[in-house]
Amino acid sequence: MINKMLTRLTIGQKIVSLIVLVSMFSIMIAISGLSLNEFRSTQDSMKREITMISNIIAENMKAAVVFDDNLAAQELLAALSAQPIIEYARVSNKANELIAEYGNHTIYQSQMPINDDLFEVKTLLYVDDKIIGTLIVVANDVAYVQAIQVYFMVVFAVFCTSFVFSVLLSIWVQRRFATPIIDLANVAKKVALSGDYSLRAKNEIGGEIGQLLTVFNGMLKKIDHREQELEALVRIRTNELEELNKKLADQAYYDSLTKLPNRSLFEDRLKQSIAHAARENTQVALMFVDLDKFKEVNDTWGHAAGDALLCQVARRLEKQCRVMDTVARIGGDEFTMLFILEENDDISEISRRIVDVFQVPFDILNKPLVVTMSVGVAVYPTHGYDYDVLKAKADEAMYKAKRLGRNQFCIHQ
Ligand code: GH3
Ligand code: MG
Repeated sequence: MINKMLTRLTIGQKIVSLIVLVSMFSIMIAISGLSLNEFRSTQDSMKREITMISNIIAENMKAAVVFDDNLAAQELLAALSAQPIIEYARVSNKANELIAEYGNHTIYQSQMPINDDLFEVKTLLYVDDKIIGTLIVVANDVAYVQAIQVYFMVVFAVFCTSFVFSVLLSIWVQRRFATPIIDLANVAKKVALSGDYSLRAKNEIGGEIGQLLTVFNGMLKKIDHREQELEALVRIRTNELEELNKKLADQAYYDSLTKLPNRSLFEDRLKQSIAHAARENTQVALMFVDLDKFKEVNDTWGHAAGDALLCQVARRLEKQCRVMDTVARIGGDEFTMLFILEENDDISEISRRIVDVFQVPFDILNKPLVVTMSVGVAVYPTHGYDYDVLKAKADEAMYKAKRLGRNQFCIHQ
């Protein structure tokens, strides 16, 4: 039950309760001890005072008793009126016969034996070591009760002040020590929920708690740093993967030597162009280009020079294309081109222009060299409706151009 209650309290409430409880407990013990002592000493001092008065009166009373002077005895007792706490006094002779009395004798008779509110001081009167009489003084404890009441009021005031002081102290202690720990717990919770390691716990306190906060913040800093490093690493790896993907895509769709589209990209574009032309009722020209006697270039100038020539050929063919046209290298010294024909386009003119640009010499190892080519052409929809048919017919036309002596174009008939 207490455990359950304790777990429900916040650390701040626990500190406040603990300090208040401990201080109140200590104050109670101190007050109890002091009170006991105070009650006893007040009582003792009262008794001492009455005894002293009794002794003084007894001393003066002896003569009155010896001479049986009731009047003198009465006058002596009357002097007790100066002491309001004395309720009753009586003096009697050896035979216990009353000589004189003061105050309310009914109290003495009715209160016998003396109760809690009254107390009695009995003094024997001696002359030459012989008892000649007895003086009895009965006093009330009003002064004692009043003193105790005042004492209780003071104690109550002290208790209240201590209570207020202990509450204030505990609140200060709670703010000083519990608040940083509560802040720390809150920051830890926020970090766990948001994953934001840039958060820091407020650290304005020294000592062990300050050290704890410093260590905690240091840990967060390290984790934050590590996370940033990991993020940077992930970014690098992602970029590498993206580049690799791009490279793989390039390899899949582009020719690595000339950087032109390869066979599969070309076929894809041609199919799309045919589909588009079918919808728009326009024409697409497919051109097969094969270099003439390219083997001789390789044999004469070397394979690397052949490669360089293939790249120059690629750039020259590219220049003959518009944005919507495509040129590709489909293997060896074979290139393909597709032209989206518009109303005024003449495929013979385009083919001638392409053959003509090859009359300008290439630069092979810093030497001018004319490399011609043979071109075969097939047109959608004139020579076929699908890709395979057009390809076969353009290929056939290209071989015809070769047969006719190369360096020319042939449109499929
Ligand atoms: P033709 O006029 O009949 O076309 O004669 P050709 O010598 O051009 O013969 P063909 O087109 O059949 O041969 C192409 C040659 O291109 C064959 C091969 O040695 C060469 N070749 C193929 N790929 C490459 C390449 O990537 N680089 C180089 N340098 N040569 C290649
Ligand atoms: Mg060839």
